[in-house]
Amino acid sequence: MSRSTIARINPRALQHNLRMLRQRAPQARVVAVIKADGYGHGLLTAAKALHGADMLAVATVEEGLNLRHSGIAAPILVLEGFHNQDELAGVCREQLVPVMHAAHQLQVLDQAGEIQLEQAWLKLDTGMHRLGFPAADAANLLHKLQPRVQQPVVLMTHLANSERDCSANARQLKQFDQAVAGLMAAHSIANSAAAWSLPETRRDWIRPGIMLYGISPFTDQTGDQLGLQPVMQLSSELIAMRDCQAGDRVGYGSRFECRQAIRIGVVAIGYGDGYPRHVRDGTPVWVAGHRAQIAGIPSMDMLTIALPRDSQAKVGDPVELWGQHIAVEEVAAWSDTIAYELVCQVKSRVKFQII
Ligand SMILES: *Cc1c(COP(=O)(O)O)cnc(C)c1O
Repeated sequence: MSRSTIARINPRALQHNLRMLRQRAPQARVVAVIKADGYGHGLLTAAKALHGADMLAVATVEEGLNLRHSGIAAPILVLEGFHNQDELAGVCREQLVPVMHAAHQLQVLDQAGEIQLEQAWLKLDTGMHRLGFPAADAANLLHKLQPRVQQPVVLMTHLANSERDCSANARQLKQFDQAVAGLMAAHSIANSAAAWSLPETRRDWIRPGIMLYGISPFTDQTGDQLGLQPVMQLSSELIAMRDCQAGDRVGYGSRFECRQAIRIGVVAIGYGDGYPRHVRDGTPVWVAGHRAQIAGIPSMDMLTIALPRDSQAKVGDPVELWGQHIAVEEVAAWSDTIAYELVCQVKSRVKFQII
């Protein structure tokens, strides 16, 4: 019998969440971001489910080529663009849409001679200081790039604090608007958080990622509270149980100490599957119709939970780590990270099932 450690992926939830984002920004076209293997949910699963988006976005040319080779014909934006002649050739051959964000890409384009790109986006740095040309050069760059591109170039930037309503967003917006004033081009600024909560960032194209997967980027609300549906349910099963006495300690480093007699359950999932090792004792899981709590440091293939006194749980019962009953955002808070990291981290050792 094979191990029943399973990530169930629900494509209808992806479609529901896309509709929610469209309702929120009805004027904008949608680039559905599916980089990093669809935020850990599966690149192709996400691409197929999100056929209703106007465009897909991946980080690298390689991811774009993978999608094409799997038969995805939708427009594909490559957020990091091309970096050499090889990648540029792939972009042209497969009609990927590169983001142009640095001078070396313009050189690669120049060195390629006469070729014209079908489409390209031009990225301006307005304060994130990761990718992007200096915003003040927008007009120059656009005049230089547009003749090399058949369709109108889209101007984009990325916000560093979109999940907070703070002055940094206003500063970035102001920089962008000053830099592009008078230029005839479509704009794209908003990721999920901005598209949801900062109306002035919605413009022509929104670029949601995390919310498509049913996950909230905001620390004070879960996706469920926003009306989103979780796309991934991560579960395993109880493979052993034991009764422990007050004073007994559980797991590596003996971190968890039983204050009274309790029942400990062993679940067949660990950090070797992508469950975070650094969760604290008390992190919730769901078993036999109730919450139970992580007790002890998760190990590579297993973790231990303290079962409530009245639990009917028995060996073989399914245990949900996150999904329907336990929000992945909650597990993220218990492990001092963000839900983005948790879903991206699920390993291929886990069985992925499309439901
Ligand atoms: C990843 C990414 C997004 C999507 O961000 P979410 O917070 O997941 O919505 C949008 N734009 C760019 C440039 C990105 O890198």
